[in-house]
Parts: sequence; structure tokens; C-alpha cells
Amino acid sequence: MTATVTKLNLLDLDLADCQALAVELGFKAFHGRNLFKWLHKHGVVDVDAMTDVPKTLRNALRDTADIRLPRIIEDHPSADGTIKWVMGLDDGQRIESVFIPEGKRSTLCVSSQVGCALNCAFCATARQGFNRNLSVAEIIGQVWQAARQLGTAPTNVVMMGMGEPLANFDAVVKAMDIMQDDLAYMMAKHRVTLSTSGIVPNIYRLREVSDVSLAVSLHAPTDALRDTLVPINRKYPLAELMPACKHYVAKDRRRKITWEYVMLDGVNDSLTHAKQLIRLLEGVPSKVNLIPFNPFLDSGFDTSPPERIEAFRQRLVRSGIFAMTRKTRGDEVAAACGQLVGRVEDRTRRLGRILVETHSMVATR
Ligand code: SAH
Repeated sequence: MTATVTKLNLLDLDLADCQALAVELGFKAFHGRNLFKWLHKHGVVDVDAMTDVPKTLRNALRDTADIRLPRIIEDHPSADGTIKWVMGLDDGQRIESVFIPEGKRSTLCVSSQVGCALNCAFCATARQGFNRNLSVAEIIGQVWQAARQLGTAPTNVVMMGMGEPLANFDAVVKAMDIMQDDLAYMMAKHRVTLSTSGIVPNIYRLREVSDVSLAVSLHAPTDALRDTLVPINRKYPLAELMPACKHYVAKDRRRKITWEYVMLDGVNDSLTHAKQLIRLLEGVPSKVNLIPFNPFLDSGFDTSPPERIEAFRQRLVRSGIFAMTRKTRGDEVAAACGQLVGRVEDRTRRLGRILVETHSMVATR
């Protein structure tokens, strides 16, 4: 039997790693810097085309490493400019990324895991269960692919696709660092947003190592309700989540937490809920994103009527909280939240390929 040895994937490396690799192979650190720039700024994945990298180093790289990217296998443009890409990974898994243009700004919604383990009641990804974490290359590869398709990198990234980014901490942080690197995608820190359901210890960890914007999937103003909608709340209740979020934005007075709040008919959308939410957010620099629920088969939930969403929003605004209702984009190509369809390789392979509806967040921030 021949064992398959997986070579180092150069797209798993950040700038410091590329420099260290060059030195390890007997070259200068700046050669590693050039390599990093070729890979991300120029999108070149053929080492022979990297003309300012010495030929001997190129040979050494070819021997020791590979460049492996997610492949675009479906491309779904929508009339509003939104594009959904289905990407295939080396092991047959599929993930989805959604591009949302808005005037001069453009946002790429990026996945961090195949599936998700958190089991939120209204989220279709939960139905498919957790499969695996994405590697750095698979996360930054979504941005790489978008930049090549569009001829320019998106201006913003939201880690709001499939998965819980704080449950894949190291790979997500490294990929977000590459997004912000001047030799790569040059995104300002406030242009990269991580969305979490509230893994409290990792919110503290994130603050130590990163400066990105934080969005939190709140969806309920009390523990009793949040326990049923976002089960991770049973482990990290609001009394722990709120101080962690406050701490996250405390380092910069201009920073705010973006609270995501999916509007579920008759569940969390009354004026009483709005008042509870106002009380909860007191003293936390906040903006609230109300997300009309995107229904999926057998979800058991309905979307709140638009008048109720607007009344809820007005109540928040009157108390001085910045609140907006997120537009649904890309729904005609099934790219809006709750509509993405990810085909996932069944781990046991007994069922072969299954078609699962997954959600992904389409942000319009
Ligand atoms: N796991 C992370 C990242 C996913 S972001 C998180 O929970 O924040 C995706 C956002 O879309 C989350 O706020 C999620 O709660 C929300 N969402 C999930 N299913 C949805 C649906 N069917 N309709 C609208 N929003 C949904």
C-alpha cells in the first residue's frame, strides 16, 4: 500500500511563516516575503512564474510544498449583483461563499467550517451536523478565488458563512490576518467582521490577538428564550456573554458590537422583547441588525411580518440604539441566509451524497 503524503500547502502560511520557510530552506526572509506577495497580491500559484524568487528556491518549494485551493464548481450570479460560489475541497466536501456588491463597497461572506456543531434552532446548517474545520488555505482560498473572479479583492469580509468561526479559532485568526496584510488583501481591521454565536472564552482570546469587528448572534434578550434558540447559551449565558462583548470593544471607543437578531414570528419579535433587549444592551456600544428569518423546509418558524420588524426597530431607535433591518440579497439564486444549499459528503458514505439545505449569512453592512 502506498501512503499518501500530503505536502505542505503554501496557502496555509501567513507572511511570518513564508519568511521562516525561506530561511529554513537556506534563503533570505525577504524571498519568503516575495513568495507571500505572489500568492496573494498577484494571485500566482505557479512557482515558476514567481520571477523574483531564486530558481533554486523555486525548485526547493516544488519539492517540499504544494499550492491547493478550493475549486469553484458552481457560479450563481443574481440580478442584484450578488454571486454565490459553490466551492469544492480536496476531500469532496463543498462550501459556499457569497459576494455582495454595494456601490464602492463589496462584501464576501466566508465559511469557516463544513457544517456546524452548535445546533441553533432556526439554522439550517445545524441540520447537517458538524463535519470538519476548514484549513487556513480553505478559508483564505475563498477570498483568493473571489479576487481572481472579480479582478480585484472584495473590500470587506464577513466570517458569516457556514460554521462557527470561534470554534476554528487558530485557522480563522490566521486567515483574517492574511486578509489584513498589506502584501495580500489589504483590508482595514474594521472591514473584517467575525460573527459568533457566543463562545465566551474565545471572545477574550480573540481580543488578545486580533482587532477585527465583532458581530454576535444574539437572537433573544433573555436566557430563558436564548437557551431554546441558541443552545450554546446554556454553557455561556448572557451574564457571561455581555461582559465579554463589552470587554472586546472597550479598547477602542469607536468600536461597537453588531448584534444579529433574527426576527421569528411570535417568538422573539414583540415590543416586550424590544424593551428587554434595550435593557440588556444598556452600557454596551451597540448596533443591532434585524434579520428577517429565511425559512427552510420543516424549520418550524415563520418570518415576522414587515410591520412588526419595523415597530421593533423603531422601539430600539427611540431608545437611542442604532438598528437596521438587513435586506435580503441574492434570494433568487438561493444565496440569502437560510437558503444556501451545500452538498456534503456523508461521513460514513453509506448514504452517498446528500443534499442539505444550509444557511449562510448575507450581510449588507
Ligand atoms: N456561527 C456564527 C456564524 C454564522 S453567521 C454565528 O452564529 O454567528 C450566520 C448568521 O445567520 C447568524 O447570525 C445566524 O444566527 C443567522 N441565521 C441562521 N439561520 C438563519 C435563517 N434561517 N434566517 C436568517 N438568519 C439566519
